[in-house]
Amino acid sequence: MKILFLDQSGKLGGAELFLLDLATAYRDRSLVGLFADGSFHTALQQRAIPVQVLAQQNLAIRKESGLWQSLRQLGQVLPLIQQVSQISRNYDAIYANTQKAFVVGAIASLLSRRLLIYHLHDILSTDHFSPTNLRLAVTLANRLATLVICNSQATLEAFVAAGGNPQLAHVVYNGFALENYADLPSNRETLRQQLGLTNDWEQNASTCFVVGHFSRLSPWKGQHILIEALTHCPDNVVALLVGDTLFGETAYVEQLHQQIEQLGLQRRVKFLGFRQDVAPLMAACDLVAHTSTAPEPFGRVIVEAMLCGTPVVAAQAGGAMELVEPDVTGWLVPPGQPMKLAESINICYHQPDVAGAIAQRAKQFAQAQFNWATIQQQIDRLLKKALFCTLDNG
Ligand code: UDP
Repeated sequence: MKILFLDQSGKLGGAELFLLDLATAYRDRSLVGLFADGSFHTALQQRAIPVQVLAQQNLAIRKESGLWQSLRQLGQVLPLIQQVSQISRNYDAIYANTQKAFVVGAIASLLSRRLLIYHLHDILSTDHFSPTNLRLAVTLANRLATLVICNSQATLEAFVAAGGNPQLAHVVYNGFALENYADLPSNRETLRQQLGLTNDWEQNASTCFVVGHFSRLSPWKGQHILIEALTHCPDNVVALLVGDTLFGETAYVEQLHQQIEQLGLQRRVKFLGFRQDVAPLMAACDLVAHTSTAPEPFGRVIVEAMLCGTPVVAAQAGGAMELVEPDVTGWLVPPGQPMKLAESINICYHQPDVAGAIAQRAKQFAQAQFNWATIQQQIDRLLKKALFCTLDNG
């Protein structure tokens, strides 16, 4: 099956990291079309995946755009639709991995009469989308898509609640190559020292209790919740914030720095920026915190922490609730509540044996449920079925 993958982002978010693995599996017969240039483009090239940047400027339609704003961008979108439709004639299917890519891909599929697959990595709700964009996505999906792959049950339920046809929708979780987590460095202390935990905090690296947060810096990812939680934890509990802004959220970063200063936590919070070496960093943490204030569609970082053998505390909403069984494979805390988060951090801090047992169970669970080889087979089966259905229908 020859696939034209589409993604609007030039940067590496969760959806793009997923596509990186999927497109690798199809690289001898696929093309990834991007609507922006950036680190995702480079990562695809490094894996020898055919890639083409289709749009010369970022599409200005935002998730929260209204009808009028969206219509004003049509002049920019039409040439792109034409280009995608032209290219797609050389492929069996258009596989849209993000929202703008789906809108463009859907209309292009109408012109080129190609199979349309929609991989939904978002919870379609008004938390993140304008009512216009929600209606547009669901209408196009119901009319034109043969298959809607949802990255969690929560994502599927939101799609259906927004009017999406349940018959089209299937849950396929993200998968992870287990070998990437097999030989994580055992030199935890060395890594902690390299990270400057000793110098910056004037602590012995081994006496720091490190809570890692791995995510783009964005208000709804809730880094501010973790920072506030630190004030309710012992002084040697410190936070590593790993990740950078993806969509220009500089005001939020400024706010985080002000918060840290106001709370006097300069020595207890460290920003590492975007890192490629997430697994060893997670393995060097005592706990990974996921603090999204809106429901997380899936939450790759939660599974990654499990695979690294590091205990995880996650915000109790959306896909995260399908990943963590409270007190068995991790902790769940109500979103947006620093005190509750601090309670879980303190349990993990004071009861390392309990935390260790939870992490061990979580690792076994994640290895069994999120093995990339199995997930890829699930997607392959769905794609073949979709293609044969379309061929059968003429
Ligand atoms: N990530 C990364 N480097 C960083 C921060 C995050 O590679 O510095 C990765 C992280 O390991 C995870 C992804 O970005 O695989 C984020 O996915 P998630 O589902 O947690 O959130 P999303 O970005 O999809 O909202």
